Amino acid sequence: MAEALVPRMQGFGETIFAEMSALAVRTGSINLGQGFPDTPGPAAMLDAAAEAVRAGDVQYPPGPGVPELREAVAAQRLQRYGLAYDPATEVFVTVGATEGIAASVLALAGPGDEVVVFEPYYDSYAAVIALAGAVRRPVLLRPSGGRFTFDPDELRAAVGPRTRLLLLNSPHNPAGTVFTREELETIADVVREHDLVAVTDEVYEYLTFDGTEHIPLATLDGMRERTVSVSSAGKTFSVTGWKTGWVTAPARYVRAVQTVKQFLTYAAAAPWQRAAAYALGSELAWVAELRASLEGKRDRLVSGLEAAGFTAYSPQGTYFVQADIRPLGFTDGRELARALPEKVGVVAIPTQVFYDHAEAGAHFLRFAFCKKDEVIDEAVERLSRLR
Ligand SMILES: *Cc1c(COP(=O)(O)O)cnc(C)c1O
Repeated sequence: MAEALVPRMQGFGETIFAEMSALAVRTGSINLGQGFPDTPGPAAMLDAAAEAVRAGDVQYPPGPGVPELREAVAAQRLQRYGLAYDPATEVFVTVGATEGIAASVLALAGPGDEVVVFEPYYDSYAAVIALAGAVRRPVLLRPSGGRFTFDPDELRAAVGPRTRLLLLNSPHNPAGTVFTREELETIADVVREHDLVAVTDEVYEYLTFDGTEHIPLATLDGMRERTVSVSSAGKTFSVTGWKTGWVTAPARYVRAVQTVKQFLTYAAAAPWQRAAAYALGSELAWVAELRASLEGKRDRLVSGLEAAGFTAYSPQGTYFVQADIRPLGFTDGRELARALPEKVGVVAIPTQVFYDHAEAGAHFLRFAFCKKDEVIDEAVERLSRLR
């Protein structure tokens, strides 16, 4: 039979998360693969969603999002970062950050256009760049001084006459990097100099550790006018299944993104939008506790992985630790990730799937720590049998 899938999407197959989560279920393993918390968001937020459903909020909401969420997002960007957006024209609700990123890339990059991304990258980026018919230009993040960062010359060399977009994820999944002001200045220089648009994925904006500050690219000089910022409720409020995200950008970019988004899903589900609006206004103390708790879980997992013989990179943010498998005598992360469930009953993600240059990430596994302490402890105990 002929291949049913269009050529530009061939090679994207089943996501690694589906494969690894299925393996976790089949082998009864502890799943530190996919990054979803095993405890729910703030109770009053869950109640707000349930109340919205019971009150009959079950028809199409406005395509750009319910006004109360757009106002809550505008207030959040202003209070936290000093960034002013008009909720009516510069804030736009999407089905998770995933759709916000997809609609932005599809709206702003066409066939043959180039999109600069830092690799490893979140898996949806490569697929949506391919869907747009655009070309990705990866810039490598490598370990240096205990964190992953890029070489400014390599960033500058990645930009050419066809480059339209730069896609930036900070705090970064899977590398765990929170880009510093100096790094962001380098990125902003490139964006301004080549008249690019930046699309920023800030879904972990609240989940940074050791007092590390998340700095939105849009706050840098001249960058608000050329940045489409994307975030969502999923990670901030531990409701990854709600798929409620938003875009903040100058009106002309919002109009472009809206033109695409309205034909992808038209609107995002109403009850979650109401609950997210409530939470952005009233549950930031809960988020501060989540952040502190995740910091402790990060330390728990990092020291456990080190004790088990990995070299672990302690992340400055997100849900994930990168672990170098070479000290244990392994070299191929994909092979090890496929064997790990049978060997010791733990699932991790081979980081190489997030690279164009797979060899650069071949020896890393990504472990999630957004799990109950006892789950982390049991996973670490099992991993210690690897030696
Ligand atoms: C989880 C995640 C997303 C997806 O966010 P949703 O709101 O669930 O669509 C996007 N980017 C990164 C880096 C993530 O880790």
